[in-house]
This record gives sequence, C-alpha cells and structure tokens, in this order.
Amino acid sequence: MLTKTEAIVLKAIKYRETSKIVTLYTKKFGKLNVIAKGAMLTTSKFGASLEPMSYILAILYKKETRELQFLSQADVIKSFLELYKNYNKMTIGLAICEMVYRVIKFEEENPRIFKLLVDTLENLNNADKNEINLLWYFLIHLVDVLGFGLNFRNCLNCGEKFGMKNLSQKVVFYPVKGGFLCSRCGAGASENFYSVGTFKSLVWLSGAKIDSVTSLKIDRNINSEIQRLLFDHLREHVEESLNLKSLEIYNKLKQS
Ligand SMILES: [Zn+2]
Repeated sequence: MLTKTEAIVLKAIKYRETSKIVTLYTKKFGKLNVIAKGAMLTTSKFGASLEPMSYILAILYKKETRELQFLSQADVIKSFLELYKNYNKMTIGLAICEMVYRVIKFEEENPRIFKLLVDTLENLNNADKNEINLLWYFLIHLVDVLGFGLNFRNCLNCGEKFGMKNLSQKVVFYPVKGGFLCSRCGAGASENFYSVGTFKSLVWLSGAKIDSVTSLKIDRNINSEIQRLLFDHLREHVEESLNLKSLEIYNKLKQS
C-alpha cells in the first residue's frame, strides 16, 4: 500500500553502499523503520530530508508483514535550520529524538506524542534563551502521555495539597509512584531529596504553554536536579538504557 504520512526523522544510518535505514516517528503509524534506497548518493532525490530532527512528509510502500518499509519520497515540511546551527539547540533536539527512539515501541500510533514532538522541536528552533527548559517540558508531558505522569498536586503520605505551609524546606520524590512527600512528611527520609526550587520549577514547566516555556531562567543546580529526577522516574518505567549521548555532550559543554 502506498501511503503518505507526516514524520520526524529520529535516526538515520548508512546501509550497504548507497542506502540509509531511517527511523521515523510518523503521525499515522508511530515509530517505523524505513529503507531509503540511494539516499547516500549525492544525486539522491532525498537530499537533506533524512537528517535527524527533519520534519517531513513521507511517502512509503507499507506492508503489514514487513518490518522494514520502503521510503519512496520525503519532502521537508518545515526546516528547523536553527537546530543545526546552534550547538545547544542541536544537542537538546537530538536528545529528544534519541529519547523517542529508545522509549517508544514500534508501530504504535499516538498523535499526541507526534504533536508534542513536532511542537517541541519547532519551539526549540525558535527559542532564544533557556532552551533546556524545552527538554524538561517534553519529558514531563511524554511521561504523562505514556501513562506514568508526575503528581504535583498533593503529598503521597498526608494527602495535603502542596502550598506555602508544607513546602518549607526539601521535598522527597518517589520515582516509582511519580509523586512527592511534603517537607513535613519527608523530614525523616534519608534519600531522594530535592529542593523546593526544583519542585516549583517542575510545577511551573508542567503548567506552562509551550511558547512561554523558555521564559523561565532556571539555575544550574536546579537544572541538574530536574534532570536527575526526570531520569530516575523514567528508569522506573522504561527498560531501555537512557544514557543519551547528546545530553552528555550538552552537559559537558555547560560545565566547561
Ligand atoms: Zn505530607
């Protein structure tokens, strides 16, 4: 069956002499491996459309019984050129693609994930500061769509709504449950502490509109706590390794 679908290129590897095997996250079919014959040739009709993070309209021959589909044509819908010019943006965008590549199963259609992915890359492309916030935004919403979203509303122990009274010092996070203990209930705990600033930043990021996400300046300590928290949570629910190469590069760049 010849079919058309919007897609984001997650990964492309060379196959034999002249072809590429490309992993797409498609709007219609979810994650899919396709073969692009002749894509390595300079005269290839695919041009630069198969670079990771490309937003394309893909035409493919799809057969239910086949694991690797044939990509017949790929036209760029929107070029996110800034993602390739700016190293911060590139490493964050690639980390997002790598995350989808690892966490999402093949051939499970999910328009919400597709929209989240496209919107996040587009806003990352247009961002002029605090780009990393978009990675946190993406992950907070991704775990939500996957069914293990974070609970920022009330304490796992006493059930009280979070507010001024019970957020005086540190909070404790339980990765398995995706929830928190308030400062009072968590006072005796010996691990998984996070600053109230981290908690508040996460609450803000989870409720923000995507086009205002980068307006919040988050300091370095809080950013590393947010990363630790989100990845601890993901590891409880995902079997694949989450050591994202591009995020490691981003973090090294930020330290130097
Ligand atoms: Zn409590």
